[in-house]
Parts: sequence; structure tokens; C-alpha cells
Amino acid sequence: MEKKAIVVLVDGMRPDGILQCGDSFLSDLAAESTASFSAQTVFPSVTLPCHTSLFFGVQPQRHGILTNDWHPMVRPFDSLGDLVARYFKKAAMFYNWEQLRDLNRPGSLARSCFTEVPANHQKAMESEHTLTDWTVDYIRQESPDFLFLYLGYTDIAGHQYGWMTEPYLQAIANASQCIRRIKEMLPQEYSLIVTADHGGHDQNHGTECPEDMTIPMIFWGEPFQAGVQAQGLTILDIAPTVASLLELHPLTEWEGKTLLR
Ligand SMILES: [Zn+2]
Repeated sequence: MEKKAIVVLVDGMRPDGILQCGDSFLSDLAAESTASFSAQTVFPSVTLPCHTSLFFGVQPQRHGILTNDWHPMVRPFDSLGDLVARYFKKAAMFYNWEQLRDLNRPGSLARSCFTEVPANHQKAMESEHTLTDWTVDYIRQESPDFLFLYLGYTDIAGHQYGWMTEPYLQAIANASQCIRRIKEMLPQEYSLIVTADHGGHDQNHGTECPEDMTIPMIFWGEPFQAGVQAQGLTILDIAPTVASLLELHPLTEWEGKTLLR
């Protein structure tokens, strides 16, 4: 059976936030995965630069997105979603931060689903479950080859209340439960990758300090060895790993490495 991949990114989720959030699903998932709680994102540790590095597999110096404002690349090439579409496979993105819409070229995604995060803490967490409902329905009905689910409220809670505060940890526990619902319905051909774009400290991020740069990376599924703590991972390894799972030819631009041999 052809292998498929779901990538879930929880914006601003620190690895120690996973351990302290009071919900054990993600730490249990890490224990049955190839995982790292000391993986590194790229600098600047800012949402759009980090996502562009994830989708294009290169450092910000190469893609040129250094802030949350999008502009076209000077020497353009395929994003992960573009590459999947080039192979006539089905790529989809479900997200709640609008700036992510430019990561893939118009026409590359079979489904693109955006909803806003409500201002209220409780409503924001409920809305991430609604986005998860739509994601689960889509996986059931359309069986995409590659689906990217972005959950943005954890970062908003970090800015509003502070990283590692109670509301921030509640947002992680809530995202953890959303991811549990996806894992429980996933057909056997799927692997599940869970990560973050950056961490945070006080009420911000963007610096080179370890709290901002360190991210979790969890690779669960039949192709990945269970119970392995991986060393030296970076966010640049995600595109090559998803591509090798889907048996797509790697792009010469990529600066990371696949976890699969
Ligand atoms: Zn932020």
C-alpha cells in the first residue's frame, strides 16, 4: 500500500511544554516513535520564516522570508505541497493562521481549509477541535497523500499569557487531544509527524536562545523505528522525510536529510 503522511504543527509548542501540560498523549506518542525533544528550528525563530523552511527544506537565507510578511522567492522552486502535486498525489492543508496560504503555489492543494482563531481562550481551544473535525472528515473521505494541519492557538496563548503559563500549557494539552483524535482514526498507510515551528520565552520568540530555537519532532508510524531518541534533527529534515515516505525524488535544494534509509 502506498505510504501517506500527516504533519501536525503546533505553533510555539516547546518540548518542555509537552512534558508539563498535564496531558500525556504526546509524550506517550514520542515514546512509541522516532523522536527528539531537542530538535532545532531555523533563525529567525518566527512563524512564517520557520514554516517556509519546513515547506522548502532550506534555511531562511535561501528562501528570503525573514519576517511574517510573504514575498515571492528570488530563485523559486517547489514547496513540499507543490512537489506532492507534481507527482499527481493529493496534498491538503488545514490551518488557522492566514499567512500560511502562500506556502504552496495556487493549484497545488486538493483542499485548503482556513478558519480564524476566536479571541476567547475557551472558544479558541474549541475551534481547534472544530478544525480537527474537518481534518478527520477529509482524511476519511479523500485519503490525502500529504496533509498539513496547523494549530496556532498555543502561540497566541504564549504571547497573551506568557510561555509555560497555565493557559499556554492548557493550549498544548488541547492540541494534544486534537492530535490524539487524528491518530486514533488514521488508516494503516499513514505516518504521523508532530512538530512545532519555534518555542518561546516570556511573551515572545524570534531570538537565538534555546527556549525559542528548540522544538519537538515526533515521527510515528510503521516506517519509523519506535522508541528511538534521534539526535541532531532540524526542521529542515521534515520535507526530505515526507518526500522519501511518499517515494518522491528529493529536490537538490534541500539542506536537511531524510530519517528513512
Ligand atoms: Zn508567535
